[in-house]
Amino acid sequence: MLSTPDSHARAGGSFAGRFRTLLLLIPLLLALVACASRAPEPKLPRERPLPVLLIGIDGFRPDYLAMPEARTLRALAEGGGHAEALQPAYPSLTFPNHYTLVTGLHPDRHGIINNSMRDPELGSFAMHLRTAVADGRWWGGEPVWITAKRRGLRSATLFWPGSEADVGGQHPDEWLPYDASLGSARRVQQVLAWLTRPQSSRPDFMTLYFEQVDSIGHDVGPDAPELRRAVSAVDRSVRELLAGIADAGWADRINLVLVSDHGMTAIDESRPILLDELVDPRSFELVSFGASAGIQPRRGRSAEVEAALLRPHAHMRCFRPPEFPAEWRFGEHPRIPAITCQAEPPFVVGTRRVYEMPGRKRKRGGHGYDPTLPDMQALFIGHGPAFAPGTRIDRAHSVDVYALLCRLLGIAPAAHQGDPRAFDALLRPGV
Ligand code: AMP
Ligand code: ZN
Ligand code: ZN
Repeated sequence: MLSTPDSHARAGGSFAGRFRTLLLLIPLLLALVACASRAPEPKLPRERPLPVLLIGIDGFRPDYLAMPEARTLRALAEGGGHAEALQPAYPSLTFPNHYTLVTGLHPDRHGIINNSMRDPELGSFAMHLRTAVADGRWWGGEPVWITAKRRGLRSATLFWPGSEADVGGQHPDEWLPYDASLGSARRVQQVLAWLTRPQSSRPDFMTLYFEQVDSIGHDVGPDAPELRRAVSAVDRSVRELLAGIADAGWADRINLVLVSDHGMTAIDESRPILLDELVDPRSFELVSFGASAGIQPRRGRSAEVEAALLRPHAHMRCFRPPEFPAEWRFGEHPRIPAITCQAEPPFVVGTRRVYEMPGRKRKRGGHGYDPTLPDMQALFIGHGPAFAPGTRIDRAHSVDVYALLCRLLGIAPAAHQGDPRAFDALLRPGV
């Protein structure tokens, strides 16, 4: 609107008039200032921790670090702190262990007891069932991104099992639906974009996930030369990440935790243990198969299935829930099927229907075996200001990682089953 002499006069065009208007406005201005200072509590605490980036390299066995292709990862291990072995939780599978890493709970407690499972109320769960994966009712415990949120910190996940679910009604502040086709370079760029945001919107906790070492490991086995290409590709991605961190001025101001969920061992799918040879396959539902088989007898057929399976077998042991070895900390969760048959490597267990399916491509590598076996051990490297360079420990457990992440973030952990001192020998004094 154009201002006219008249409008000026009405708004107090003379000096005295303008002064009067100003005096009248003072209470309003004071009220506005007071309002601004009472504005919503700042979400972020004044003292921000150094950012923590959790990098998951699926199926990376710690001895892969010795490969010439793992140059960058080896340098991180040597220049930071590392464990010779990170013992996975039982079962040594992707979803149970990724979720153990971020909750500090055994699968028996957090409820992701397998990659494939059934729940009497929720139905079926599998990694490719997007609705189930996103349904928080499957995911128990408190993942670190929720602990961080409760303490006023921000989290962003570039893939992590559980991050797509509304666990207790909450997600990370930023997360992406899992997309295996999103290239590693794009993943690295996204994490760098998060890190280099202005302070107010920068996440304190981030994840980055790579699947190719596991996928190729299944296809060709852990000892094949093609595996080295996958190791080389992940190593290059980590190198690009480090270069981006350094370019952005964040080198030495970020704590990196590199883990895998389990190792990998050579398997022989040409002679699977076929349950059909032990018991009528129509007498049970096969809930999961591979290194172990989850078996749910059909109504009225329990006695027959139990009689056939709960006896000694070559290369396989079958357990009812209370009978698992005590050190596996497994057997109480109601989602555990009535019988689990656990094979020993290189054997796999299932039915004819799954192993003799026309066109099925045989895998040469696998995991899901006894988590104490050397080939099942996972990776742990810590690098950054919190970690004492050149330090190593023999062993820690996946379940110990959650408390470490909380410690790096300077926040109190929720109830967990890990050893809060497990990584002490890798940390600088005062951390
Ligand atoms: P596994 O069968 O235990 O070897 O599972 C490994 C596979 O899990 C990878 O090849 C990924 O494709 C898949 N995976 C990893 N993270 C996710 C996720 N957040 N959502 C769905 N699938 C995933
Ligand atoms: Zn995995
Ligand atoms: Zn795998």
